[in-house]
Amino acid sequence: MSHQASRPQLDAVVERVKEIGLRPEVSLGEDRAVIGVIGGNAYAYREAFSHLPGIQEILQITKPFKLASREFQPRNTVVHVAGVAIGGDEVVMMAGPCSVEDELMLLETARFVAAQGARILRGGAFKPRTSPYSFQGLGEKGLQMLSAARDETGLGVVSEVVAPADVEMVARHVDMLQVGTRNMQNYALLQEVGRAGKPVLLKRGMSSTVEEWLLAAEYILSQGNRDVVLCERGIRTFENSTRFERGIRTFETSTRFTLDLNSVPLVRELSHLPVVVDPSQGTGRWSLVRPMSLAAVAAGAQGLIVEVHPQPDQALSDGAQSLDFETFERLMRELRRLLEATVSQPV
Ligand code: PEP
Ligand code: MN
Repeated sequence: MSHQASRPQLDAVVERVKEIGLRPEVSLGEDRAVIGVIGGNAYAYREAFSHLPGIQEILQITKPFKLASREFQPRNTVVHVAGVAIGGDEVVMMAGPCSVEDELMLLETARFVAAQGARILRGGAFKPRTSPYSFQGLGEKGLQMLSAARDETGLGVVSEVVAPADVEMVARHVDMLQVGTRNMQNYALLQEVGRAGKPVLLKRGMSSTVEEWLLAAEYILSQGNRDVVLCERGIRTFENSTRFERGIRTFETSTRFTLDLNSVPLVRELSHLPVVVDPSQGTGRWSLVRPMSLAAVAAGAQGLIVEVHPQPDQALSDGAQSLDFETFERLMRELRRLLEATVSQPV
């Protein structure tokens, strides 16, 4: 719509979209509104709007993802999680153990990361482990421990949900629902979190393209939930084709995953959604977490989610990639220095 368009003019366009049998999605910006038209071959109906006042231009969104695209919404989305803005000026640190193991370790970690400047506490209560014999998490008890840690520290809480049937229960305990890499294409789960009324942290599938990841976000957005934060967490890279023909899959194995930092500035170009990075899953090695955190922020990440454990060698999951308190403190110190240096640089 043009800058001068009135509310009745906007409403008239929305009505016309519905009459045609398409779906309107309105995005109200600072100084103008954009009406997304979703469904079938929407662009073919553009003539049906030629007599309506207030329209500035009709654009064809060529990307397969619509609501997630920058074309649909030029301004950045800011997602509010327990009073913390993700996607604004602040680089938001989310930190905590891979799994909630017990109340004491969780509280100890929460207090420490909060004192260092983290804003959101992470901790898995439902763990989608590669092996069914590994620790699967404490379930709802773990979520209650997260709530207690929130009450004590004031941190927001993010935790993973793995099954559509659990979404409502998990949403009662957390401030942001995490969809893990192994579930990025679980479309029933995406639709359910799209209806949950809580922000969603959507991890990139470990074998998914950026386009597939944005289409997964589209599933959530199209259910009416606009509070989606995208999280790059590393991918599996090349396949050795000759070995693949012999039935052997190979990929880069020197680190657990390859942290694709290309995707950060790329997704910020393609989409208005905030992008954060998980260098813990992305590297699998604690010694790489600090340098890759700095690299992620330099590349434009709007937040980080980092695994921290009071005693990483005792952790029930992902100890090898968890930072101890001392290293987390150093990371926070170096991040502050990086941010001071970058914001003071003339562009
Ligand atoms: C996690 O955050 O502990 C986790 C399991 O993440 P991902 O889904 O990215 O592997
Ligand atoms: Mn983990």
